[in-house]
Amino acid sequence: MSGEAPGKAAARLAAWLAEAERVLAFTGAGISTESGIPDFRSPGGIWSQMQPITYQEFVASEEARLEDWRRRLVMNDQLARAEPNLGHQALASLVRSGKALGIVTQNIDGLHQRAGAPPDRVIELHGNATRGRCLDCGTIMPLEEVRAALEASGACPRCACGGHVKAAVISFGETMPEPEMARAAEWAEASDLCLAIGSSLIVHPAASIPLLAGQSGGRLVIVNREPTPLDEAADLVVHSAIGPLFEEIFPDF
Ligand code: NAD
Ligand code: ZN
Repeated sequence: MSGEAPGKAAARLAAWLAEAERVLAFTGAGISTESGIPDFRSPGGIWSQMQPITYQEFVASEEARLEDWRRRLVMNDQLARAEPNLGHQALASLVRSGKALGIVTQNIDGLHQRAGAPPDRVIELHGNATRGRCLDCGTIMPLEEVRAALEASGACPRCACGGHVKAAVISFGETMPEPEMARAAEWAEASDLCLAIGSSLIVHPAASIPLLAGQSGGRLVIVNREPTPLDEAADLVVHSAIGPLFEEIFPDF
C-alpha cells in the first residue's frame, strides 16, 4: 500500500492501536535519529562516512580490531550522551501497560531499555554496543574495562580465556542469534498489530519479522521517512518523521 497523508494516517493508527491487544514494535535506526544518533543509510548516515568492518576482518587482523574498537568507543560516547525520545517512551509505555508483547529492535543503542521498556521484553537482534564480549567463551566485558585494557596495552583486549573481545553486536558476516530470532518470530505470529518504525527494512533476516507478522493475520503498519520494500505488504504506510506522528497519536506524553 502507498503512503497516506500523515493526519489521516495518525487517526487510523490511533484507532488500530486502541483496538489491538498484542502489539509488536519492530524498530530500526530511524527511531533513534531524533535522539541524535545517525542511522546508516540516510544522507549523512554512518555509511556515507565509513565502510563497516566485517566479522572476518575483525578476526583476521589486529589493525581491524583496533580500528573497530576506536569507532565503537567514539560511538559509545555519543550513545551515552543521547536521551530516549518520545518514540522510545511511547513504545516502552505500551509494553509496560501490557498492550504490547514487546519490542524487536535492530538497534544496538539500548535506548528502549533506558526509556523504561522491561529488558526481558526487548529483543536486540543485532546485539548491544554498550558492552564487549569474548568471541570464544561469551564472557561480557564492560566498556570501561575495554577502554582501560586498550589504553594500557595498545592491543585489542583479550578475555581471561585468551579470546579476543569484540563489541557485543552482530557484525557484518556474523550469523544472527538463533534464540532471539526464534522468540521474535513467535511474537510476530502472535501479534495482532505490528508497528515497523524507522527501519529501511532491507536488512534480512531481521526484516522478515514484520513481514511474518503481516502474513500471520495481524495488521502491519510501517512508519518510515522513505519508502521500504515491504510497503506493498503493509496495511498502512506512513512516510513521515516519527516524532510529529507520535505527538499526534500520544498527546499525553
Ligand atoms: P537504516 O539506517 O537502514 O534505516 C533507517 C531508516 O529510518 C531509513 O529508511 C530512514 O529513512 C528512516 N528514518 C531515519 N530517521 C527517521 C525519522 N526521524 N523518522 C522516520 N524515519 C526515519 O537502519 P536499519 O534498518 O535499522 O538498519 C540497519 C542497521 O543499522 C541495523 O543493523 C542496526 O544495528 C544498525 N544501526 C543502529 C543504530 C542504533 O542503534 N541507533 C544506528 C545506526 C545503525
Ligand atoms: Zn573468553
